[in-house]
Amino acid sequence: MLTPSGAAASQAVTPTRIDDLRLSHSIDDALAAALAEIVGAENVHADFETRLGYVRDSLPYAKYQVRSGVIPATLPSLIVRPANTDEVSRLLALSVELGFRIIPVGSLSGVLGGTLPLAGEVMLDVTRMDAILEVNETDSIVVVQPGMNGGAFEAALNERGWTAGHYPQSMLISTVGGWAACRGAGQASSRFGKIEDIVTGLEVVVPDGTILRVNAEARRAVGPSIKDIYIGSEGVFGVITELTLRIWKLPEVDTGVVCAFPTLQAALNATRRIIQAELRPSIARLYDEAETAGRTEGLDVFASHPIMGFFAFSGMRELAEVEQRLALAIVAEEGGVQAPSDPFTNWRKDRYVSLSAKWFEAGHFMDTVEVTAPWSRIPGMYEAMRTAAKAVYPGLHFGSHWSHVYSDGACQYMTFRLPPMADAEALPLHAKIWDVLQTTAIEHGGSISHHHGVGVFRNRWMRAELGAGLDLLQSIKDSLDPGNLLNPGKLGLRPAPGSVVINGG
Ligand SMILES: Cc1cc2nc3c(=O)[nH]c(=O)nc-3n(C[C@H](O)[C@H](O)[C@H](O)COP(=O)(O)OP(=O)(O)OC[C@H]3O[C@@H](n4cnc5c(N)ncnc54)[C@H](O)[C@@H]3O)c2cc1C
Repeated sequence: MLTPSGAAASQAVTPTRIDDLRLSHSIDDALAAALAEIVGAENVHADFETRLGYVRDSLPYAKYQVRSGVIPATLPSLIVRPANTDEVSRLLALSVELGFRIIPVGSLSGVLGGTLPLAGEVMLDVTRMDAILEVNETDSIVVVQPGMNGGAFEAALNERGWTAGHYPQSMLISTVGGWAACRGAGQASSRFGKIEDIVTGLEVVVPDGTILRVNAEARRAVGPSIKDIYIGSEGVFGVITELTLRIWKLPEVDTGVVCAFPTLQAALNATRRIIQAELRPSIARLYDEAETAGRTEGLDVFASHPIMGFFAFSGMRELAEVEQRLALAIVAEEGGVQAPSDPFTNWRKDRYVSLSAKWFEAGHFMDTVEVTAPWSRIPGMYEAMRTAAKAVYPGLHFGSHWSHVYSDGACQYMTFRLPPMADAEALPLHAKIWDVLQTTAIEHGGSISHHHGVGVFRNRWMRAELGAGLDLLQSIKDSLDPGNLLNPGKLGLRPAPGSVVINGG
């Protein structure tokens, strides 16, 4: 899976065993001194162990590599931690002046390798920029710096009686800037929208150091949305240094019901009809048979109704109660029944906990792939994906849920797991499973990603996904960053010379 990209790559591929690198790594003292002039020496880190902490994000492939004592790509040359927009601007201007490459980093929870240093880049860690700058209750907006931890951000809003409505499972291990940079989704996206619906304004430092502000407006009609060039830009077009988000009053009630359905088709029909009836569940989640079984042990109703769904309604009590009643009527029309609430209570308790840690530690190869498709295509796409993934490895654990639903389609979120085996055997199987899941999504008129983004691991499907749109993104990149210095080789864009290639793209 990890191959050097042509002739130039041989310069970049240093010994990849972590223990070898520990003995042989070098430090660029001159560059460290230049960075220290901007941020102070205490905010530039050249020591090996700190740099080692930035060799991977939460991309499972990179985690497998580190588990085996191998560097996934390269060791970053330095870590720099600016305190404010001015320092970010001076750092990017310096990168152009001296010609070094640099990658914006939040909390490294991205799961597609968006922060992997492919050629010894400097890592620009924004987590010192972590304050709420303003809460305006009349306009119901919050202005926040990009490096604020998601959990701390939401807790601070809750203390004032507000919420941003964005609750990714990674809330406690990600930053607000990372949410926007990856075009993420929270568990209540069916009600509040994805991050692109929540962020209304931005401040960004573009690759030459210029500070660009997109003022927060309710709506506007002044050409294409510049804000949306940056939402989902994954650190390739600039560094996000400030965000304005919509906020909402904390709900009076927030209650969920668990339903059991006789078939997946019945559950999909009920969920689609609930959304198309303009009911607004805060949570709408369906689990296929494999995922239902793991969450409903001892609950008899699931023997005859093996598909589980959660529907939660929040807001003013009276309204939420009416919405729940109307939703349950649709569920009944599709053959569903109400079930005990334990699975929902358990899910709520663990909603911000990563379920993969124990499998990684036990040597398994576990990954998740999320795609989007229109309602009409989902049943066929799901069956095709399950069959194709199991054909790659018959003993594969494969499960799916649908947890972000819209009037026109939904996100299908799949988890697969290979048992412990040698990396040399597992990694080609892992790559092949990714390939069948991504190509099947495209064949079914879907998108290769709903909210995890592209990073480096999805590079090779970007042409199939975007067509000529990829050339448009490359033109924007070339115009903003002619030296290809800011997070090169991500989002399907041209890599820098000497870059390591991950997953063939
Ligand atoms: C257990 C687990 C559960 C997850 N659940 C969800 C989920 O429910 N919903 C969801 O959407 N995602 C989820 N993710 C994915 C991940 O948490 C998100 O993509 C998150 O938004 C990344 O934030 P981060 O601060 O960790 O960014 P990082 O991983 O540090 O960076 C991610 C990308 O954003 C860029 N970037 C970061 N900060 C900036 C900035 N200030 N300016 C410009 N570019 C920047 C980086 O260069 C990189 O390309 C999950 C991940 C894990 C491990």
